[in-house]
Amino acid sequence: LADRLKGTEKNIWVDFGKLAAEHKALNLGQGFPDYPPPQHVVNELVKAITGNNSLIHQYTRSYGNPHLVNTLAKLYGPFLGRDIDPMNEITISVGAYGILFCAVQGLINPGDEVIIIEPFFDCYEPMVMVAGGKPVFVPLRPAEKGGMLSSADWKLDPEELSSKFSSRTKAIIVNNPNNPLGKVFSRDELEMIADLCKKHDVICISDEVYEWMVYEGNKHIKIATLPGMWERTITVGSAGKAFSVTGWKLGWGIGPAQLIKCLQVLHQNCIYTCPTPIQEAVASGLDYEITQLNHPEKCYLYTLAKELLPKRELLAKSLSDFGMIPTIPEGGYFMMADISKLNFEIPDDGTDDPYDFKFVRWMTKEKKFTAIPTSAFYSRNHRSLGEKFVRFCFIKDDKTLQKAGELLRDWK
Ligand code: PMP
Ligand code: GLN
Repeated sequence: LADRLKGTEKNIWVDFGKLAAEHKALNLGQGFPDYPPPQHVVNELVKAITGNNSLIHQYTRSYGNPHLVNTLAKLYGPFLGRDIDPMNEITISVGAYGILFCAVQGLINPGDEVIIIEPFFDCYEPMVMVAGGKPVFVPLRPAEKGGMLSSADWKLDPEELSSKFSSRTKAIIVNNPNNPLGKVFSRDELEMIADLCKKHDVICISDEVYEWMVYEGNKHIKIATLPGMWERTITVGSAGKAFSVTGWKLGWGIGPAQLIKCLQVLHQNCIYTCPTPIQEAVASGLDYEITQLNHPEKCYLYTLAKELLPKRELLAKSLSDFGMIPTIPEGGYFMMADISKLNFEIPDDGTDDPYDFKFVRWMTKEKKFTAIPTSAFYSRNHRSLGEKFVRFCFIKDDKTLQKAGELLRDWK
């Protein structure tokens, strides 16, 4: 193994995906729907590959199929409050993962510091390490109020955050809405981050793959729309999330041409281009959504959160009836739940893993029910902040969620 990959051998999705499959567990672990995506998007893929344009089966433009980047410019222009140049201010890669990888590789020099807010989507840390950068962590801390929390009760300490910025800081990765917590950052919180980015001349990588999954009463604000932030922000999106097709693996980065260029330089030599039919289908699917933006009841980008809301309620009730204490997410489709007040002990498995890893492994083997241990979303030194929580995914068929409820009710 190349030296620069040492320390990144473990992967939570590989390990816990395998464990769930081995035990045929009811799976509220990895984030993907267990029911079909919107039919019109599937139809667009069928149309793309069965139509009479034979070039659909061949390579397309490296930085994104022209149809797709044009459509994305049209979709995001109004949300970003500016005209987007589709050829220079947007780039496409293999999922949001691909965009994040291109951004980190394309922008970070060895020794550069990158601030990561905990809990964080686990790939940020190894990506920064592989680029030779130094991840610097700052945790969201839950309010000490007992009982059920909202993800809004998890906050950054302004002084702690500002103490992490220095002349060595190259970038900050903000995940809004956040995975695993579901936090949707408020305008005040984003302004605080933005002010520090401007003061220290820092780039913001804003991972907004859950941008459409924001629950009533909450508003998703793009940090790129705050004054002075467009110039220094790469906004990351994902077709897999927008259309509930995680297997399609198509992502986009939007930002100023001089930053986007850095992602493209990496992408053109390491990936070159993404599958043409997938790009065409996503473009046509989004073309349709654009015509429905003023009809929220017909626009999948808006109905998705409405469809998820009762699922969120159902899961929260099942978990709290059982004795876990869920944090109700303002966005996304995951829920963190505190397992430290459960009135039973699980046997020690002899590993020196954090408690949540042991808990999920035991639950998967013994109860055929699986989730994701939350300390995987914390840096090594902060594992103790994560180990009393477990993450559950609720973009699942109602029947799956009901089964989970029954399993918890009949636990003994
Ligand atoms: N960012 C976050 C916060 C995620 O949860 C995920 C998971 N899919 C990704 C990025 C990667 O997205 P994609 O599947 O489009 O690569
Ligand atoms: N983003 C998804 C999750 O958080 C899946 C990530 C993955 O499978 N690598 O569950």
